[in-house]
Amino acid sequence: FDQREGVIWMNGEFVPWKDAKVHVLTHGLHYGSGVFEGERAYGGEIFKLTEHTQRLFDSAEMLDMKIPFTVAEIDAACRETLKRQGFADAYVRPIVWRGSEMMGVAAQNTKINVAIAIWQWPSYFDPTQLEKGIRLDIAEFRRPDPMTAPSKAKAVGLYMICTISKHKAERKGYADAMMLDWRGQVAECTGANIFFVKNGEIHTPTPDCFLDGITRRTVIGLAQKRQLKVIERAIMPEELAGFEQCFIVGTAAEVTPVGEIGPYKFSVGDLTRTLRVDYLNEVQPKKKAA
Ligand code: PMP
Repeated sequence: FDQREGVIWMNGEFVPWKDAKVHVLTHGLHYGSGVFEGERAYGGEIFKLTEHTQRLFDSAEMLDMKIPFTVAEIDAACRETLKRQGFADAYVRPIVWRGSEMMGVAAQNTKINVAIAIWQWPSYFDPTQLEKGIRLDIAEFRRPDPMTAPSKAKAVGLYMICTISKHKAERKGYADAMMLDWRGQVAECTGANIFFVKNGEIHTPTPDCFLDGITRRTVIGLAQKRQLKVIERAIMPEELAGFEQCFIVGTAAEVTPVGEIGPYKFSVGDLTRTLRVDYLNEVQPKKKAA
């Protein structure tokens, strides 16, 4: 992945992709002092760019890191990187981390670095699975309690749980894993939020210890526009047997139907398909009035 052509924006400058390196004593690598974003560009425009940039700043603040740029500067840098990379549709990855100027848990005077890399990532899951829905494992590790970790931050350290869970799921032949929270309630997937459908109504876990995803909020808005009832509540895994449809949503995953979670089966129904189409329409750049 590091041997590509193109450029990466790093601390205010464009550097060749292959030269965008960090030192092995980077604090972010040793102690997890990093936060990031995942955004998608459609038709040359980054969907909800400022919301993502604001979340990057909020995540950094939760990890006691002050980004040495403004939100507007990072927005502009994302747009300029997209232009230089020359993609209309692409995935955008801003990342912030503590540098290598100090070693140890405390590293108050390390530089806060920012980089933006953009590449083409057309489909997060196998597109041939969209008809039947992807298959999810149920992860062993749980989302931590907000008293245990900054669970609302898109922090690199929290993704350790996700990578372990996703690797385990993939080895068992699943596409991804659904994670419970520390109380045993249904939480989310390793990189996406989750929704269920029963009797024409939509149920989704209350995001009190995991990311309230930008896609999640967009899809809730689209569902409500169609007069669909969206219920945010605690969902127990035992309830999964009673749901008819399930789908997961995220910037990378967009709206992906789920066919199975462990022993539970779901059909890919009209409501899931409709919201998928609504979302794919919503992300397209709006034609500006002349
Ligand atoms: N949960 C996790 C763990 C994620 O990594 C993501 C992707 N950022 C989401 C939820 C969905 O967030 P968003 O819709 O803002 O991409």
